[in-house]
Amino acid sequence: MEKDCVIVGIDWGDEGKGRMVDLITSDYDVVVRYQGGGNAGHTVINEYGKFALHLLPSGIFRKGVVNVLGNGVALDPENLLNEIEGVRAQGISVTPENLKISDRASILFPWHRKQDELEEARLKDKKFGSTKQGIAPFYSDKYQKKTVMLGELFQEEKALAHVKDILDWKNLLLQGVYGAEPYSVEEIDAWLDKYARKLLPFVCDTGAFLKNAKAEGKKVLFEAQLGALRDLDFGIYPYTTSSNTLASYAPIGAGLPALRPERVIGVIKAYSTCVGEGPFVCEWFGEEAEKLREAGGEYGAKTGRPRRVGPLDVVATRYGVELQGATEIALTKLDVLSYMDEIPVCTAYEVDGKITKEFPFPSRLGEARPVTEYLKGWKKDVSKARKWEDLPKEAQDYVLYVEKEIGCFISYVSVGPERESVVIRSKQDK
Ligand code: GDP
Repeated sequence: MEKDCVIVGIDWGDEGKGRMVDLITSDYDVVVRYQGGGNAGHTVINEYGKFALHLLPSGIFRKGVVNVLGNGVALDPENLLNEIEGVRAQGISVTPENLKISDRASILFPWHRKQDELEEARLKDKKFGSTKQGIAPFYSDKYQKKTVMLGELFQEEKALAHVKDILDWKNLLLQGVYGAEPYSVEEIDAWLDKYARKLLPFVCDTGAFLKNAKAEGKKVLFEAQLGALRDLDFGIYPYTTSSNTLASYAPIGAGLPALRPERVIGVIKAYSTCVGEGPFVCEWFGEEAEKLREAGGEYGAKTGRPRRVGPLDVVATRYGVELQGATEIALTKLDVLSYMDEIPVCTAYEVDGKITKEFPFPSRLGEARPVTEYLKGWKKDVSKARKWEDLPKEAQDYVLYVEKEIGCFISYVSVGPERESVVIRSKQDK
C-alpha cells in the first residue's frame, strides 16, 4: 500500500520536483502544495504538452486527482487565475472538484508585489535577487498578522473593513518610506472582484477535506517548492526564500498538522544549479559553465534567467538530505552529463585552510572553496534507459558513488524530461 509522501528539493530548487510529482501522482488521490508562492516554477512535460506551473499542484494533469493549495501558500489570485486560464487553454480541466484552495490561505495583494519592487530598487547592487512576486513582503505581513485570509471574502463587508485597516497601515510605509502612490480601498475592491472573488468557488476548509480524505483511506502527496538550502530557518539565510521548504512543514502548511508522512522523496539533480544571488560554493564560470547550462537547458521557469551551474555538491546535498529527513532520493538529469569525459563532484569544502565535509554556517559560506574530484564519464546517450542494466557501468558507478556520499537510497534515476524517461531502482540494483 502506498504511504503518504512528501516530494521535496534537497538543494537550491529546480531539481525536477514537478517531473517527479507528475510521475508518481497516479499512485495518489490528493496532491497538496503547502508553502511558497508563484515565484518559482515546475516544468512538466506530459501527453498534454509542456507546462510551466507556478502555484497549481502538478497533480492537475491526472484525472481523478484532487489538488489542494494549503494554508501555507502565498495565494496570489491574479497569477493563479492566469495560470488556471493558461492550462485550461491547453485542454486541462480545472474545476472545484479537482482544485481546492484553503480558506486559511492568505491573499497576496498588489501592494506586496509593489513593495518587493520598491525594496529591490532601494537595495540597488545589494539586492537579494528577488523575483519581485511579493513573496517576502507577503510572508512578513502574514507573521505581523496583517493579511486577509481568502475565506474572509465570504463575508464581503467585514473583509473590506479588514482590507481598509491594513491599507491604512501599508500606505504609511509605501508613501512614507518609498514615496510611492498609496492604494485606495476602491481600487483594491475592484481588484478583488477581478481576481480573488472569482476563486471563491474553489475555496473551502481544506483541512477538513484532507481529514475526510484520510478517513476514507485516500493517499496524499505533498509537493514543495524550492529546496532545503532555501529554507528560511536552515538554508543559506538571507539568500533563502521566506517560507519553510522542508518536509516537516508539509503537514502544517497543508492543513493536517498532526499527520506524519512516512515517505519523503528528496529530489537532487546530477549537477548543481542555483538561481539568484548568494553563496554557491561549487559554481563554475566561463565556457565550462556555459556548456553545462546549455546541455541542461538551465534557464528559470518563471524568469528565463540563466541559472548558475556547477558540479554536484555532496557537502550541500548531504546537509539537504538530513534537513529533509529524506527516506529515498530521485536523481534527475543524469542524461545531461553524457557529454562529459569526466564527471566532476564537489566532495568537500576548504574553509580557513581546513578541509571540511560539514555545511558551514551561512555567513561563512562565502569563504568556502570547493574541493573537486572526478569520476569516469560514460559518453553515451542514456536517455533511453528504463532499467538499471540499461545504464552504462560508469553511469551506475556515479549513481552508487552519490548514494554512498549522501547516505540515502536512490530509488529513481531520471534520464529525460518525459514522464517515462526514468529508471526505477530496487535495492538489489547495484
Ligand atoms: P522543479 O521546480 O524542481 O520541478 O524543477 P524545474 O521544473 O525548474 O526544472 C526541471 C527541468 O528539468 C524541467 O525543465 C524538466 O522538464 C527538466 N527535467 C526533469 N528531469 C529531467 C531529466 O531527467 N533529464 C532532462 N534532460 N531534463 C529533465
